[in-house]
Order: sequence, then structure tokens, then C-alpha cells
Amino acid sequence: MKFSVLTLFPSQVKDFLYQSIIGRACEKGLIEIDAVDIRDFTDDSRYRKVDDTLYGGGTGMLMQCGPVYDSWRSTFEKDEDRPYTIYVSPKGSVFDQEMAISLSKMSHIAIICGHYEGIDARVTDEIVDEEISIGDYVLTGGEPAACVMIDSISRMIPGVLPNIEAFTNESHMNGTLEAPQYTKPPKWHDKDVPEVLMSGDKARSDEYNRIASLVETWEKRADMIDRLQLSEEDWTKMLAFKNTL
Ligand code: SAM
Repeated sequence: MKFSVLTLFPSQVKDFLYQSIIGRACEKGLIEIDAVDIRDFTDDSRYRKVDDTLYGGGTGMLMQCGPVYDSWRSTFEKDEDRPYTIYVSPKGSVFDQEMAISLSKMSHIAIICGHYEGIDARVTDEIVDEEISIGDYVLTGGEPAACVMIDSISRMIPGVLPNIEAFTNESHMNGTLEAPQYTKPPKWHDKDVPEVLMSGDKARSDEYNRIASLVETWEKRADMIDRLQLSEEDWTKMLAFKNTL
């Protein structure tokens, strides 16, 4: 799986991603992350300028079509090898786990990072397959958004995490939040780890975690619990669980 990130700040992307789990996935060749400097495609050899003022007034500068298009075109040779192209933008559909899973099946994704006031609409209209936002707020540039997306997509690629169990029970994988988790020591600040989780009884632990996960979702994201079709039996167990807290 290859990511080509088109950016004015390649080191921001590389410094963030070439670390820890994603860095090791790059070393193992499971993913390839190429940060393409859009300034390398400017006609302005003196100042390497890639932006200009807005037509129709308005403050700020806009990234120009030419360097964005040429940097994107440099990421593939033949038309049939064109990458799935995403413009990270506050106007896009909001990124979520389902999108991460579906994008992890692509072979090559190009992510275009805007800066300043954004990018001339003519070039994004021509080359972008999907506009994606990481939330309803405005960042100064698309690099943090590209990094967030690459991190989340990459961990869905087989081999990046140690095993499937590492993510199948995680928050947002099944429309729920993960159950609270505990590690050693068994007692800390007078707080005990739930006895069932230390009992060694896998079936009981699994059922405890299933109900704990539903209660966690109910308490922290009532909007998510509303979307689940829970049985009366589950609601009874959740109420009983809550009474033990
Ligand atoms: N003028 C634009 C607007 O109002 O829609 C905002 C431009 S923003 C200052 C500069 C760049 O940051 C954008 O082109 C985009 O690539 C990136 N960006 C900003 N907010 C983002 C978000 N919520 N999600 C993804 N990318 C974002």
C-alpha cells in the first residue's frame, strides 16, 4: 500500500509518521509513504512561490493549479495507475473508522494537503476523487489531517498490528466503544481490577467485557448506543452492571 502526500511541508509528514508502529510498517515494506514537495513543481526558480492572491477579493493566498497538478502527476506514470486521490479539507465528509477500513483496501492513495486559504478549485475539481475532513474545525494546513488518516488507515492493513485481536474489539470497530481495560498491579489507590478479569475464565471475561463495552458506549456516546439494536436482555444486564459501579 502506497501513500503519496502532496505537501508544502514534507518534513511535518515524515517526522510524524516515520515513528513507532507506522515507522516499523514502513521499514518492513508493508506501507510506503512518499512526501512530495509541491514547491519542487513551481515555475518560480527564484522564490519557489506556489500561491497567489484571490480573484474577486478576499484576504490570504491560494495555492495555484500548476504546481499541485504537476506534483500529483509525478506520483504515477500511466493513466491506469492513477492513485485514488483525496483532498483533505474542512468541506469534506468527516473521516471515520468505516472510511479507514475501506481506504485500507486501496493500493495507492494520493493525499493533497492545502495551506493558506486552500487550493484553486479548478485543479481539485479535476483530480480529486473524494474530499475528506477530520472534523468540523479549520486547521492551518492539511498535513495533520493527512497524518491522522494515514495512521488510522495503515493500522487496518494486515501485518501492521501484531494480530487481528489487536483491533477487532477496539472502539468504533463494531459501533461500540471498547470496555475499560486494566493492567498490573491488581490494586491501585484502593481501586481493584474487576475480579472476573483476573479469574482466568475466558467466557466470563468475554461476557463481562461485552456488557462493559455497551455501558461505556451508553455513558460516553449515547448517540452510538441509539444506533445499536440491543435486546431487552442486554439492557437488563447493562442496568445491573451500572448498579455495581
Ligand atoms: N479557506 C478554507 C475554508 O474555509 O474552507 C480553509 C483553508 S485551511 C486554512 C488550509 C488547509 O488546511 C485546507 O486547504 C485543508 O487542506 C486543510 N484543512 C483545514 N481544516 C481541515 C479539516 N478540518 N480537515 C482536513 N483538512 C483541513
